[in-house]
Amino acid sequence: MANVLFDALLRPHLDSEAVFLHLPDGSRTSYRAFLASVGRYANALRAAGLQAGDRLAMQVEKSPEALSLYGACMASGIVFLPLNTAYTTHEIGYFVGDATPGLVVCDPAAEAELSAVAAANGANLLTLDGNGGGSLPGLAAEQPEDFEAVSRGPDDLAVLLYTSGTTGRSKGAMLTHDNLLSNARALTGLWRITAADTLLHALPIFHAHGLFVAINTSLLAGAAMIFLPRFEIGAVLDALPGATTMMGVPTYYTRLLDEPRFTRETAGHMRLFVSGSAPLLAETHQRFEQRTGHRILERYGMTETGMNSSNPYDAERRAGTVGFPLPGIEIRIADQENGAELAAGEIGRIEVRGPNVFKGYWQMPDKTAEEFREDGFFITGDLGLRDADGYIQIVGRGKDLIISGGFNVYPKEVELVLDEQEAVRESAVIGVPHPDFGEGVVGVLVPESGATPDVARIAEALGRQLARYKQPKRLIVVDELPRNTMGKVQKNILRETYRDLFA
Ligand code: ATP
Ligand code: MG
Repeated sequence: MANVLFDALLRPHLDSEAVFLHLPDGSRTSYRAFLASVGRYANALRAAGLQAGDRLAMQVEKSPEALSLYGACMASGIVFLPLNTAYTTHEIGYFVGDATPGLVVCDPAAEAELSAVAAANGANLLTLDGNGGGSLPGLAAEQPEDFEAVSRGPDDLAVLLYTSGTTGRSKGAMLTHDNLLSNARALTGLWRITAADTLLHALPIFHAHGLFVAINTSLLAGAAMIFLPRFEIGAVLDALPGATTMMGVPTYYTRLLDEPRFTRETAGHMRLFVSGSAPLLAETHQRFEQRTGHRILERYGMTETGMNSSNPYDAERRAGTVGFPLPGIEIRIADQENGAELAAGEIGRIEVRGPNVFKGYWQMPDKTAEEFREDGFFITGDLGLRDADGYIQIVGRGKDLIISGGFNVYPKEVELVLDEQEAVRESAVIGVPHPDFGEGVVGVLVPESGATPDVARIAEALGRQLARYKQPKRLIVVDELPRNTMGKVQKNILRETYRDLFA
């Protein structure tokens, strides 16, 4: 029976002895062994009473077995729902209540607390730990490895993935077999991923980046992965010489640059470094090139759409931009008021249409309807522009736009100026309530290590470079910016912290 994802990502490897995973203990897992494990987990899920169309929620440490579970869901037509390991029991309660999975898989350490959550929502609970132990692997070990994949068409749901919750409560994005496969095909082609590649995988697997961009492309190409449980700098430096590609969030790249051990030689065997999930500072891009000779390839995507755009492989990878729309995907920069398409250089809403765009938010038909235009374009919530050469630049999120005294202030523009100031490592610009201006612009600065920014001088410099209404009315120095596990700056937390600054 045809199963869109299984047939493209897994079935071709059933008899392949090629390496799929290089593990930290020095062992390797072949594709054939991985597929056998997928079969056992698929049979285990059936034995646990799950059927095609049911949801499976998973909050576990990253492990090869968690990948088997992902593969088993694909094969069984079960909708895979991975959850951030940082979520508390209370938060898991929300996701389980919202998604009503038939089965919750959690770490044995969380079993006592989560069994109540599962029971309250009519779900079963099985465990899986970071070393491949627990009640689910126990059940899988008793199962045969042969499993006939369940029939799944292009529009059937494959994954229910919650957004990162950077701008508000996480929403469940319904992603179909074709959403995932079309995106994996576009990326694999564009980035030239082949069976000769070995990807250094240090990302979490509960997010679109580590799961779809990294794993689906590797499976499609038959590539190997050096599968690290987390981004730990020593282990990453040790693994780099054996890899050909790496995918990371921008903080991975700044952490590599902080290490004197990270040199041109360490990166000598690499073919490609990809960055995404949050903006990569142009400065990081330049420092990385000076150090290694490699230009990081930045791309742009989101939970709801997978990847939308990417810098080119061969042509110029332009710092501070996210490149061009992927093949088969349309990106429109639209006027925020009337939706008309804008000319190059003008800032507007980024809208996307293509086979990558999700089916809608889980059980939120009104929210879904609000975020789509009549002609099928999805309103991403990000603001951006196309430069004269067609490269797309992200200016920030619509929700972060500041309106001060009736003027639009794009935080990114102010941040870029702040970041150039002496002793400033990075910055975040936010708007908070202001009695006269509606919102007042506030600049939050993080110093270079050991340095103390001269706030008065910085304010003076900004006065020379930015129109009055864009200049922060306050500059605040902090040790670090609040970030979520994907390295995204949480401006909602900053806005909350400084809410009463002008009150
Ligand atoms: P929520 O939607 O719940 O507020 P979120 O938008 O952070 O959370 P994700 O889907 O994980 O959840 O993140 C997608 C967002 O990440 C994009 O809309 C964009 O704002 C940002 N992003 C992704 N890649 C880049 C990039 N290369 N440069 C700048 N921003 C990026
Ligand atoms: Mg979002």
